Amino acid sequence: LRKADADYLAGLNPEQREAVETLDGPLLVLAGAGTGKTRVLTTRIAHILALGKARPFEILAVTFTNKAAREMRERVGKLLGQAAEGMQWLGTFHSIGTRILRRHAELAGLHSNFTILDTDDQIRLIKQVLAAENIDDKRWPARQLAFAIDGWKNRALSPKEVPVGEAQSFAAGRGAELYAMYQARLRQLNAVDFGDLLLEPIRLFREHKDVLEQYHRRFRYMLVDEYQDTNTAQYLWLRLLAQGSKNLACVGDDDQSIYGWRGAEVENILKFDRDFPGAKIVRLERNYRSTGHILNAASHLIAKNEGRLGKTLRPQTELGEKVTVAGSWDSGEEARAIGDEIEALHSKGHKLDEIAILVRASFQMREFEERFITLGLNYRVVGGPRFYERAEIRDAMAYLRVIASPADALAFERIVNTPKRGLGDVTVKLIIERARADSVTLPEAARRLCDAGEIKAKARQALKDLVLSFDRWTGLIDKMRHTELAEMVLEESGYTDMWAKDRTAEAQGRLENLKELVRSMEQFENLRGFLEHVSLVMDVDGARGEDAVTIMTLHAAKGLEYDTVFLPGWEEGLFPHQRSLDESGRAGLEEERRLAYVGLTRARRRAKVWFASNRRIHGMWQSSIPSRFLDELPEPDVDVIEAPASYGGGSFGGMGGSYGASRFDQQKPFNSTYDTPGWRRAQENRAHATAGPGARSGGPMTIEGELVASSTAKSA
Ligand code: ATP
Ligand code: MG
Repeated sequence: LRKADADYLAGLNPEQREAVETLDGPLLVLAGAGTGKTRVLTTRIAHILALGKARPFEILAVTFTNKAAREMRERVGKLLGQAAEGMQWLGTFHSIGTRILRRHAELAGLHSNFTILDTDDQIRLIKQVLAAENIDDKRWPARQLAFAIDGWKNRALSPKEVPVGEAQSFAAGRGAELYAMYQARLRQLNAVDFGDLLLEPIRLFREHKDVLEQYHRRFRYMLVDEYQDTNTAQYLWLRLLAQGSKNLACVGDDDQSIYGWRGAEVENILKFDRDFPGAKIVRLERNYRSTGHILNAASHLIAKNEGRLGKTLRPQTELGEKVTVAGSWDSGEEARAIGDEIEALHSKGHKLDEIAILVRASFQMREFEERFITLGLNYRVVGGPRFYERAEIRDAMAYLRVIASPADALAFERIVNTPKRGLGDVTVKLIIERARADSVTLPEAARRLCDAGEIKAKARQALKDLVLSFDRWTGLIDKMRHTELAEMVLEESGYTDMWAKDRTAEAQGRLENLKELVRSMEQFENLRGFLEHVSLVMDVDGARGEDAVTIMTLHAAKGLEYDTVFLPGWEEGLFPHQRSLDESGRAGLEEERRLAYVGLTRARRRAKVWFASNRRIHGMWQSSIPSRFLDELPEPDVDVIEAPASYGGGSFGGMGGSYGASRFDQQKPFNSTYDTPGWRRAQENRAHATAGPGARSGGPMTIEGELVASSTAKSA
């Protein structure tokens, strides 16, 4: 194979090619959106394999999402004309961390079948720790401590290393102590949380040089996508590994750093050449993704941020369509109008797969989902913890978890009395105490209690039956297909029946979700593989394989691209999000602006921004003010379709002082007539909309917690 002839290299520009062909030593590709950074990484893997520089299992490749890992695997396969099999170390930080930890679990005081707690379990466990210490969790909410612990873990701080001042802020200075107790409980349960998936390998590498050296020998080449969003723990993890071969290639864009709120340190990318001496730095300037107007708009917007490196981005195609900005009366109309536009595109032959709706907060999704159901438009919700967060799914998962690891106490607690079996809190407490006293699993403790006659007769029979059932199900793991086992368990436990008998409106939907759960298990080889997947990704691609519109958060959209992108909800308070303004001031605003930049640069041909004059937040209708980001879009690249009616809230002039003459001032609709269909509909809606919170159907909406949706998810 002559290098220059390799097919996969054809079509790269000279800078990209340089980045692909510089195989030895540290490399950083620092470049804007859509310049082919990810493509460089993929091609680099193909190049390493094609030249025989390393075998597939000697390459460590870190992506930000599981979806990205899947795509990278497929693309490498395509480039090489053969499957990229054996790339065991291609995945997210978490999935690779899990793999490492399972191999050396004993060294970390765990068994290799440890469970990975999700946020819900984590909070439940912290509640127990607080209760045991008699700390009032009204005054000191478990969620708050969970957030603090996550933050410490992101910064790779063990309980002993937590700065005194920070520990002081929780429960009269007991933050670090409670963190230590929580860790001890995790170990007792043979469990880890997400943070541990990185922290434990770091500790392992530091304390067991032979283990680290083993990985130094193994990983001949290391590649990391989205490097701007690595946190301190991830950075330390990489640094330890890169002491080996030093062939570390990272790609990233400081303008797309959007996980600061979760501990990402954009500094990591800025100091790369100091950390990895002799690093080669490659810049890419040609954007192959978006047409001219879209790219201009995005570049102009991000230029408002201070403290950035600054980059040139040159479009490679025509100017194309302008970015459109459109207003609606309220979020319902926004969903209707976007639904109409999508139908129109669809009937003109555009594929739904090439259309995405990117929202700032996941509560915005529901209205689109409902609208699409009405229209009969196929859609999928991606990236959120939504599906697996539902109560029925969590219950079903709890059954499966107990079957796979009988020691999983949190899961056992969740379902021991669901459906109702007459096993009250007292019984559950007895079981837990017994398990602790005897150092046995909960099912085993339950059995002992029954045998010893320490439980009332009626409860005893129910508990006995349950324990026997679990024994039987566990025994069937290797004997039957995991999907059939799951179905059987849900039937025999009476769980499905519980919903079938339920008369509430949601029951039918819950039964469908349970079916979907079993369907989603099919793509996994066995139960363990499935459970691991769920604890790691918490997402299910609905409507898989079918042409469907994608609905997801801006955060989840990183790295992806679509022909048409809708960006609804550009309103002050929602986007930029009030929480990030309140908590992080100017830095928070800049991160929000980077998020807007990420959103716009996902579009290849059409970017469509929307804002509503009224939105229901915390269940209350509120009038809203157009986002300041709208004013920051350059006029020549933008078409304003229609402004909202001149009702509602205060004028834009009051905001932050410098937005006096907004083009989107509600008092002076820009470039619009009052005779658009949207405005007329808005008039009709008005009486309806102002009728108060009860005027519309739908569950409670919260903005609270959205920012931390993926790390501190709401309980189901
Ligand atoms: P982001 O910052 O959003 O993650 P990126 O820099 O990773 O973007 P890619 O996703 O790798 O960019 O590439 C963007 C698009 O441009 C892709 O569709 C890719 O196939 C295409 N592309 C990249 N390089 C070239 C090239 N040399 N010629 C033609 N198309 C290219
Ligand atoms: Mg990319």
